[in-house]
Amino acid sequence: MQDKHMLMIPGPTPVPESVLLAMAKHPIGHRSGDFSQIIGQITENLRWLHQTQHDVLMLTASGTGAMEAGIINFLSAGDRVLVGNNGKFGERWVKIARTFGLEVEEITAEWGKPLDPEAFKAKLEADKDKTIKAVIITHSETSTGVLNDLQTINRYVKAHEEALIMVDAVTSLGAVNVPIDEWGLDMVASGSQKGYMIPPGLGFVAVSPKAWKAYENATLPKFYLDLGAYKKATDKNSSPFTPPVNLMYGLKVALEIMKGEGLEAMFARHQRLTQATRAGMKGLGLSLFAPDESASFAVTAVMPSTVEAEAIRSTMKKEFDIALAGGQDHLKGKIFRIGHLGFVSERDVLTAIAALEATLQKLGHDGAKSGAGMAAAAQVFSQ
Ligand SMILES: *Cc1c(COP(=O)(O)O)cnc(C)c1O
Repeated sequence: MQDKHMLMIPGPTPVPESVLLAMAKHPIGHRSGDFSQIIGQITENLRWLHQTQHDVLMLTASGTGAMEAGIINFLSAGDRVLVGNNGKFGERWVKIARTFGLEVEEITAEWGKPLDPEAFKAKLEADKDKTIKAVIITHSETSTGVLNDLQTINRYVKAHEEALIMVDAVTSLGAVNVPIDEWGLDMVASGSQKGYMIPPGLGFVAVSPKAWKAYENATLPKFYLDLGAYKKATDKNSSPFTPPVNLMYGLKVALEIMKGEGLEAMFARHQRLTQATRAGMKGLGLSLFAPDESASFAVTAVMPSTVEAEAIRSTMKKEFDIALAGGQDHLKGKIFRIGHLGFVSERDVLTAIAALEATLQKLGHDGAKSGAGMAAAAQVFSQ
């Protein structure tokens, strides 16, 4: 049926109608007073969302652009960095850092398992000469549905005192608590098509005063992604280059919606969606890829054993017009992933679980009692 498509992937995520309508306007001049006012309002609300009094800069880029900006603005070739790698996006940090000639030491965990904070502690405590310039991690590892223990890892970074903590919060910002100032996070990257409830196209970088000090000594070449230029412009409610004006109309409305909901309520909603999704999968007799205690609040990875993951995805798409994500790299065909990030309600999760049950029946899966997935999810939502 036309226009009944339902996105349940971890980005791009669904967009509220009021945001879509806000974008359906003529662009205005990005140097106009009216647009400057919009930048001012957005910037203030971005600080609220990031729980920071410091800078949050907007780039016309996807999340990876924000990650790259984080590396090239605060580090130099030859710098020693510890990079957490337990999935596709941790691996991306490693690749970006190596591309720019950093001396990368990886701290790895098997895909589907969280990073061990003690491994960071050991490296940081052994670094008596303070040669580690940064610890770089992915908070919510979207490829596996694992939430890494940023708070504990960060505590060890703070004890080291020298190293910066740089975080990919692309699928944690807006879904779980990331109190940037309280924790003293130095660089936090995110992207518009995830928790922001707007389409792809904007990257965001939050920067601490300590990171700006590092910026003074960072020697990697940069031009378009030179965050100093973004800071200078943002301080005057402007942007260094032409920003995606219409996307920012949408962002303004989306941030107002988020403010209306409130941070606590937003985090609680994502937690409930996660718990219900996980309960629903267990009810359907499907195995979860990430452990309960390190579950991402943005995405749930499911590893079916009696039915092909890709058959589930294609049937969900064909019969119910629900898009689920597949596995990446060696997990392709082994897992599927349900996104529940951003503009997602309890009803959406119930719909997805019911459609999954019908899909599994069609495909001959016999691991579940009829209705058990819905019953388990309803139980979570009734509390
Ligand atoms: C989506 C995502 C990114 C950014 O990907 P882009 O395609 O560049 O927007 C980075 N990290 C994580 C954890 C993500 O989920």
